[in-house]
Amino acid sequence: MQSIATPTKTAEIVSRHNFMFRKKFGQNFLVDMSMLEKIVDSAEVTKEDIVLEIGPGIGTMTQALAERAGKVIAVEIDTALIPILKETLQDYDNVTVINEDILKLDIDALSKENGGKPFKVVANLPYYITTPIIMALLEGTAPIASITIMVQKEVAERMQVGPGTKDYGALSLAVQFYAKPELVCTVPPECFMPRPKVASAVICLKLYETPPVEVRDASHMFKLIRASFNQRRKTLANGLTGEPSLGLSRDMVTDALTQMGLPELVRGETLTLAQFAQLSDLLTK
Ligand code: SAM
Repeated sequence: MQSIATPTKTAEIVSRHNFMFRKKFGQNFLVDMSMLEKIVDSAEVTKEDIVLEIGPGIGTMTQALAERAGKVIAVEIDTALIPILKETLQDYDNVTVINEDILKLDIDALSKENGGKPFKVVANLPYYITTPIIMALLEGTAPIASITIMVQKEVAERMQVGPGTKDYGALSLAVQFYAKPELVCTVPPECFMPRPKVASAVICLKLYETPPVEVRDASHMFKLIRASFNQRRKTLANGLTGEPSLGLSRDMVTDALTQMGLPELVRGETLTLAQFAQLSDLLTK
């Protein structure tokens, strides 16, 4: 089938269906064929795979994924796109479109209904909910093999950086605990219709079978991490004791920091993932 990943083809489909782009759904459709190929290539999709696509739009990437995957499940929130997807995906019998908000969908149940094989997630994500979607995929119980996504360039950078940089935060630590992030390419605004104001990037997260650090209670560690980055300008001890749900006294925190050989006034943004794991273990002893 001829691809619809061109400005002319996309404009023709959109206008024939009287479709109005909705900013609130982060609708910037990909209209560059070579970029589309690059994304789908980097996801390494084969006929053995079930792909979960988040936000198919008018089906541009869905078509390319359907050519290569065993099955594609595409989840789209905007009801106005469903008749368009019916048309653009009519030649593919291996695509299921679900008209739902990805953040409300039970991905674990969806995985079980489809035999439980780990999904490969591929998406040009709506930028207004990038972080909640990534966190739901990483922290959820549905088996996921990899996540290949288009995000804002700045968010892709946040996923890869280490301690001591201004972009380092809870997202960097969550991504690096669950997956190995690899930047595929940066993508200029001209590759989209309409053009976004910011540059984008494609990043591939390959999920670990075993996380790179050991921790007794990962959810406790992430509570610590969130508390220390919520209060970025405070010291780690102030941030952690200021978070009532953790129930930590100043003595407990300073004792743990001393055992780790860290100064009392240390800031959270200087700790590595391994140090957060050690701190969490010490505080849950
Ligand atoms: N995949 C298409 C492409 O590359 O041309 C469209 C990408 S566009 C950046 C994001 C898509 O996600 C839109 O189709 C939008 O309607 C959809 N979307 C936004 N919020 C969503 C949500 N919560 N759940 C599912 N889809 C959503």
